[in-house]
Amino acid sequence: MSQPTKFVYLFGGVRTEGAAAMKNLLGGKGANLAEMCRLGITVPSGFTISTEACTVFTEQGKAAALKLIEAEVLQGVAFVEQQMGKRFGDAADPLLLSVRSGARASMPGMMDTILNLGLNDEAVLGLAAKTGNERFAWDSYRRFVQMYGDVVMGLKPVSKEDHDPFEVIIDMVKAQRGVKLDTELSADDLKELVARFRALIRARIGRDFPTDPWEQLWGAVVAVFESWNNERARVYRELNDIPQGWGTAVNVQAMVFGNLGQSSATGVAFTRDAGTGEDLFNGEFLVNAQGEDVVAGIRTPQQVSLVGSRRWAQLAQVSEEDRLANYPSLEELMPDIYRQLLHAETTLENHFHDMQDLEFTIQEGQLWMLQTRNGKRTGAAMVRIAMEMLQQGLIDEKTALQRVSPDRLNELLHPVFDAQALKDSTAIARGLPASPGAASGQIVFFADEAEDWAKRSLAVILVRQETSPEDLRGMSVANGILTARGGMTSHAAVVARGMGKCCVSGAGAVHVDYKARCFTIGDKTWSEGDWISLDGSTGEVYAGRIATRDAELSGDFGALMALARRYQRLEVRANADTPEEAKIARKFGATGIGLARTEHMFFEGERILAVREMILADDEAGRRKALAKLLPIQRGDFEGLFREMDGLPVTIRLLDPPLHEFVPHDEAGQAAMAREMKVSPGKIRMRVEELHEFNPMLGHRGCRLGITYPEITEMQARAIFEAALNVQARGTVVKAEIMVPLVGTVREFSLQAAVIRGVAAQVFAERGETLDYLLGTMIETPRSALVADSIGRQAQFFSFGTNDLTQMTMGFSRDDAGKFLPDYLKKGIYERDPFRSIDQKGVGLLVEMAVAKGRAVRPGIEVGVCGEHGGDPASVAFFHRAGLDYVSCSPFRVPIARLAAAQAAIDAG
Ligand code: ADP
Ligand code: MG
Ligand code: MG
Repeated sequence: MSQPTKFVYLFGGVRTEGAAAMKNLLGGKGANLAEMCRLGITVPSGFTISTEACTVFTEQGKAAALKLIEAEVLQGVAFVEQQMGKRFGDAADPLLLSVRSGARASMPGMMDTILNLGLNDEAVLGLAAKTGNERFAWDSYRRFVQMYGDVVMGLKPVSKEDHDPFEVIIDMVKAQRGVKLDTELSADDLKELVARFRALIRARIGRDFPTDPWEQLWGAVVAVFESWNNERARVYRELNDIPQGWGTAVNVQAMVFGNLGQSSATGVAFTRDAGTGEDLFNGEFLVNAQGEDVVAGIRTPQQVSLVGSRRWAQLAQVSEEDRLANYPSLEELMPDIYRQLLHAETTLENHFHDMQDLEFTIQEGQLWMLQTRNGKRTGAAMVRIAMEMLQQGLIDEKTALQRVSPDRLNELLHPVFDAQALKDSTAIARGLPASPGAASGQIVFFADEAEDWAKRSLAVILVRQETSPEDLRGMSVANGILTARGGMTSHAAVVARGMGKCCVSGAGAVHVDYKARCFTIGDKTWSEGDWISLDGSTGEVYAGRIATRDAELSGDFGALMALARRYQRLEVRANADTPEEAKIARKFGATGIGLARTEHMFFEGERILAVREMILADDEAGRRKALAKLLPIQRGDFEGLFREMDGLPVTIRLLDPPLHEFVPHDEAGQAAMAREMKVSPGKIRMRVEELHEFNPMLGHRGCRLGITYPEITEMQARAIFEAALNVQARGTVVKAEIMVPLVGTVREFSLQAAVIRGVAAQVFAERGETLDYLLGTMIETPRSALVADSIGRQAQFFSFGTNDLTQMTMGFSRDDAGKFLPDYLKKGIYERDPFRSIDQKGVGLLVEMAVAKGRAVRPGIEVGVCGEHGGDPASVAFFHRAGLDYVSCSPFRVPIARLAAAQAAIDAG
């Protein structure tokens, strides 16, 4: 690449060389400063040193870079001098500058801004004389020495327990003077601060604070370039896939002063409400302040608009009198300026077609804009702003869909705490934000008791060391689940997400004592029946009860999802085991059930006894007897699912988990089974021991069960066909898809298929009716993907079980990965948790290969994905590109997957 010849781009006043489209070259801040100038908005003049200069600095070193840009920087300063009518370095009336970094993408860890650059012992006197405001001059100088000493000279706290050394001195002087606020320090106090700051720098760094303005300027420019390569910035880029080669731009700009007295101010504003999305201009400002004072919270800021001010007063319980006297809005205080600001915000939003986050300063009655960028916002605001901008004709449909991050929809799908109530509460512990939502309830430690309490209409939080499949019903009736152990993919976390139930997992500080029916955190104890609250979006645990609101599927949200439907090609089904889950899935726009797990129904009530009897029987006759008890129950379950999904496909997976998950491991349970089956307890214990496996996930499970015990497959197939014919007779349209799990060879599949087809023929003959159904397989062992062509000749559909496929391809299990996966992610061995987002380069390859092989032998074979990946936006985009027909995810993630599918379709063009 040839060396660029231009490195500096002017903006402001008579000449602007940059534009918004030049973000790569000028960084986000610089490009938008230039764009504001082009729009005729008043911006202090300045220039941007391009990102290419930073790249030269990194690759060829300081001397080479400075030599290349020196002449242009001199010209740039001359341009600013001319625009502002002041000279840089002039002692009588100095031009002061700000130096601001700005990369293409906003990036924490980069250099902080330096204000008031150009001041020294002479210039400060000139500034004081010229403005007639000695205090202002010394306040500006004090800030400059502090920022420069910190950012450029590196005078930071020594250790993390240390306070900022400059703030320590400020606090000391304040204490000596007996004042609380910075604004109460006099010009003399500020003078003293400057002297002390400089002495500290000399003592600690061994160098004097530079008093030559040019030395100051070059020092600051070099510091910005260097900050691009500091450790924190590098790591951030690695984690966020930002190329190291991009470089940062440096913006050098004339200072304007918000700290020049009562007709000066500084503030920030949003063109719409970033919390709710309401189309209402809003913001905050401080009179007689500079830079980040507003955000730093040193004084209570005032509201920009009158409406905003009145709303704020109400929330803060400030009377109208008090508000008018002490916190008037900018609209009231400086109506002219407010009108100009309103004009600027409208211009900018109409121009950028997105909600803008603005920074401005008012100097003695004149408004200056200092920054504009697309504002950050909540999930709710994202949806509302996108849909309102579409209606207002500011953006088109595709843009509206692209404006919403699918994951952020989560915030709209679960109950939330009332914001005010939350403010008044204190957190007692923190775990992992395992499943979003907000829940309050009384502590219960046992799943069966959770059910009892819930029956009495009590709100409960189930608190467990960890959960197991036996806790399912208790979990489903609880308002929320708290576990002391387990990660984001622990049983509690996965099940709770599926249920759309709030869950905080792995709260290590919580010590559960089942016997005493209490838990302790430190030296405090909470007992059964005490109220606690969980925030599943932050992982926070609170003492007491906090009011919640139900999530509302607002009009905008509905409209967004209707729009998604028109663009998505990939269908989205749901994983649902019960009619209730199916109902939620349909409400959220699922177009079928992609996975109904038959065994989840096995735990309910009396059924578990029949299931155990079947498992513990010694022979086929014993098993058949127990299976006969299960048949009507399963049939009823399937009828419910078919009815709820009328007209949409329902994919039912045959029995999958290892049998030991269902048997009683405790003595009492074994004794009960012995009575039920009329055998000795010792015999039951022996059977349970026989079922023990070293690696149950790689053991006797999936279709291996049906191969050894075909009568189980027979019963399940019969339940499905009879249920289908029963509801079909009453007018329901049934689309049944039967799925054989964990197949590895074509023979496994064809043996099971033969059993199922045999049962179908029998049932159809008995009833004199028939049913169209599909018979397919899961692709979830690596071998099945490798031989997908031969399996595809037999199977009518493939459904990728990406959880098992990931476990077996990676060679580690989801439940055990918590011990090392965090390290693996930190060290960059995997970019993302492969159980949350599909490993595209490895597991993804198997998926693509199996799809190709399947379609080669059976064009039009239906291919889908079931498993948690179906609800992950990045995975959904991958599955779209891989040409799948559908993904299936938990009901509460259906809208997220649908939006991700629409975006993937738009991206593909
Ligand atoms: P950040 O990237 O952290 O937002 P900025 O470069 O925007 O940093 O600077 C932070 C603040 O410093 C701005 O919001 C503004 O208040 C103040 N500031 C920056 N440049 C100037 C300037 N030329 N005149 C007055 N204030 C400025
Ligand atoms: Mg800023
Ligand atoms: Mg599986």
